[in-house]
Amino acid sequence: MGRKLLLDKAHIEGIRYYDTYRSNGGYAAAEKALKSMGPDAVVEEVKKSGLRGRGGAGFPTGLKWSFIAKPEGVPRYLVCNADESEPGTFKDRYLMEFIPHLLIEGLLISSFALGANSAYIYIRGEYAWIPDILEQAIAEAKNKGWLGKNILGTGFDLEIYVQRGAGAYICGEETALLESLEGKRGNPRIKPPFPAVKGLWGCPTVVNNVETIAAVVPIINIGGDEYIKFGIGKSTGTKLISACGNINKPGVYEIEMNISVEEFIYSDEYCGGIKGGKRLKACIPGGSSVPVLPANLLLKTAKGETRMMTYESLNDGGFATGSMLGSGGFIVMDEDQCIVRNTLTFARFYHHESCGQCSPCREGTGWMKKVLHNIEYGKGKMSDIDLLWDIQRKIEGNTICPLGDAAAWPVAAAIRHFRDEFEWHVKHPDEALTRNFGLAHY
Ligand code: NAD
Ligand code: SF4
Repeated sequence: MGRKLLLDKAHIEGIRYYDTYRSNGGYAAAEKALKSMGPDAVVEEVKKSGLRGRGGAGFPTGLKWSFIAKPEGVPRYLVCNADESEPGTFKDRYLMEFIPHLLIEGLLISSFALGANSAYIYIRGEYAWIPDILEQAIAEAKNKGWLGKNILGTGFDLEIYVQRGAGAYICGEETALLESLEGKRGNPRIKPPFPAVKGLWGCPTVVNNVETIAAVVPIINIGGDEYIKFGIGKSTGTKLISACGNINKPGVYEIEMNISVEEFIYSDEYCGGIKGGKRLKACIPGGSSVPVLPANLLLKTAKGETRMMTYESLNDGGFATGSMLGSGGFIVMDEDQCIVRNTLTFARFYHHESCGQCSPCREGTGWMKKVLHNIEYGKGKMSDIDLLWDIQRKIEGNTICPLGDAAAWPVAAAIRHFRDEFEWHVKHPDEALTRNFGLAHY
């Protein structure tokens, strides 16, 4: 059985409530950090742990924290990005719903390390029932002296606020989130300046994902050196993976980052294999923004090495033959799934969610959607496949925020690995909508 650091107590009845959380070791890390470590030592411990941002980008957390500007007399903020909207990703929801105090404790330790006296949880609008859970946990923590003024007599003050989003995917992009938090339309800002220098209301701000902040708790409890032992190389610790698609056991799993993709898909501890005994066709390992991998490149890298559930291994070969761990939204497709239809579904999503600020994204996402629609619905031409390739190339790297790339990469990967499926659609317009896409087509 894999060891757990975040969900180890998730099964305990009542762990959502303060008394149970506390009696099972909760807030011990906060006590240690505030009473015996101090802010700089906490930052050092997080650096030592090698923790990388769990929202998708994998940026080193300790490094991000150390970038925070500290001008005299200017407040600093910690913002928790709980706008989990990446298709296939639902791990943060699980954490917030079942162990909210882990996030509150993580926010307390992280705010202390950063010198932030206000922390915000910006939560996805569709997670309509979770803000109440968080508010209750915040009230309990405040009632017990973990929030408010002069926490544990250290002179450190902290308030945590919950802000609901209104259902826009783009507000998960950190600068759009900050705009929204300031009460404006959620349009991404140009970076740099990064939020660590100029963030919320122009002040130094760290934006971290829910899981990243929660992971600070076990890091302080066990120490950075121990945390590293839960992974391989620069993929340290554990990672929450939300697994969905054609598998026997969809759900949220905590993995040590030292298991293979094959083990994750086929072992009973995790996904339990492909549903109905069918064959694995493809997988999007890190949420809809990352490239799809065909089965042959999913279990082994192009070099023939075992593909591991790590940042490095999933990206081995770059996007030519690899993908990304991303947000851990693991979408598995069996032999009956149609890559063209899946790609169209994602293209529709990105077009709908584009904020429209930059033309390559605003126009390109709509154009890709139309061309994919034509191919899927038996009205495509062979030249449309090259046209699609050209459009995605012109979006990638030419936009203000990563949504443009996120729209382009799935299209590129689908054509790169499944071009014959696109061609089949063009050649068989009448069958395109009624086919069962078995592996026989390959
Ligand atoms: P990014 O690489 O631009 O930035 C990562 C983080 O590091 C940011 O917080 C950024 O401010 C910080 N950073 C980078 N360089 C810095 C510097 N020089 N100084 C200070 N700070 C610096 O990526 P991103 O836009 O934060 O995230 C993109 C990822 O988000 C995608 O790869 C995708 O996987 C993921 N994503 C996740 C969801 C979700 O629901 N979890 C949704 C959409 C996208
Ligand atoms: Fe908006 Fe798309 Fe430009 Fe991002 S890439 S700023 S979503 S138009």
